[in-house]
Amino acid sequence: MNTLYINLSHLEHNYHHIRSKIGSHVKLMGVVKANAYGGSDVEIGDHLQKIGIDYLAVATTQEGKQLRQNNIEIPILIFYPQFGNLETLFEFELEPSIYSFSLWDYLVDLTRRKRIKNYPIHLKFNTGMNRLGFELNQITGLKEKLSNSFFDIKSIYSHLGYSQEPSPYRLIDTQTKKFKKIVQEFTDYFTQRPLFHLLNTSGVFNRPNLTFDMVRCGIGLYGYANHSKWDQNLKSVMSLESKIMQIRHVEKGEYIGYNKAYQCEKDGRIAILPLGYADGISRHSGNQKNKVWINGHLAPIVGNVCMDLLMIDVTHIDCQEQDKVEFFGNHQSASHFAENSGTISYEQLSHIGSRIKRKVIDYP
Ligand SMILES: *Cc1c(COP(=O)(O)O)cnc(C)c1O
Repeated sequence: MNTLYINLSHLEHNYHHIRSKIGSHVKLMGVVKANAYGGSDVEIGDHLQKIGIDYLAVATTQEGKQLRQNNIEIPILIFYPQFGNLETLFEFELEPSIYSFSLWDYLVDLTRRKRIKNYPIHLKFNTGMNRLGFELNQITGLKEKLSNSFFDIKSIYSHLGYSQEPSPYRLIDTQTKKFKKIVQEFTDYFTQRPLFHLLNTSGVFNRPNLTFDMVRCGIGLYGYANHSKWDQNLKSVMSLESKIMQIRHVEKGEYIGYNKAYQCEKDGRIAILPLGYADGISRHSGNQKNKVWINGHLAPIVGNVCMDLLMIDVTHIDCQEQDKVEFFGNHQSASHFAENSGTISYEQLSHIGSRIKRKVIDYP
């Protein structure tokens, strides 16, 4: 049986740690996109709401709808709304991020037809990452459109592409300079000053002087901040555990799993675990690239990871069927596990599949 434990007391710890970094005058937005980075967006969103987070953010309208249908009432920003299901925004009071004139025009048209006024929206600027967003040279055009419309501009923001880089870092400075220009352009423009925000988790740890009015934290709330030094004060919220299904003895020269990927150098013991790449343990973890924690030892994953199963070498480990195995959590960090599989904590966590049961716990 596989379980992804979600530790709410660790979530609270991380929340308070981040709060202590940003100070009481800065708001905190909790990012719970992609099922709260593979955890469970409803439980985590609900808990963050209870402990006083100011805002939540998700990637899609559908994700926002799911939170609203589960009693989450605080403001929710939709980072990446797409044309097509914008009506759902109004129905569930979700606040879209507007990143282009075409999306702007589409929304204006829709609100006019529905006679909706003062709808809360956010403006997203590109300052150098070259992903979504308005350009600085569109500010004049944007102001023109703003003066002819009825929106409640809740916030104006941008996103750093290199926030974990040690300072000084020229590209961060360039982005920051552009963002400060945007802040200057809009500070006195509205009767109700919007919130300005730029930083994600690593930004909070790396550039605490750039918090502006709010920061947007995802990975930090879950226990990781893209640097071992910053991780030290955070606790892992998600821990992935499994149990040994079967142990078999293998003889020198035998092969393990598909395609003869692993041949035993001597007689040994192999344990079989009930999860595979369909559950988010990538094939890049196989062939001794990665290890799992069992009874105080690390056992290498041997052979190719299968869709539903994988094999570990437990020749030198005292263990038996049904013993607990940890992939990441309290004994091995998800960022370490991810690194051995050639990826990052974000991808490893958000890949944990829907077949794996989530279990919420609230003790340390
Ligand atoms: C996902 C996301 C975040 C959160 O980033 P973390 O590094 O997980 O804190 C912040 N802002 C935007 C725009 C995002 O897409």
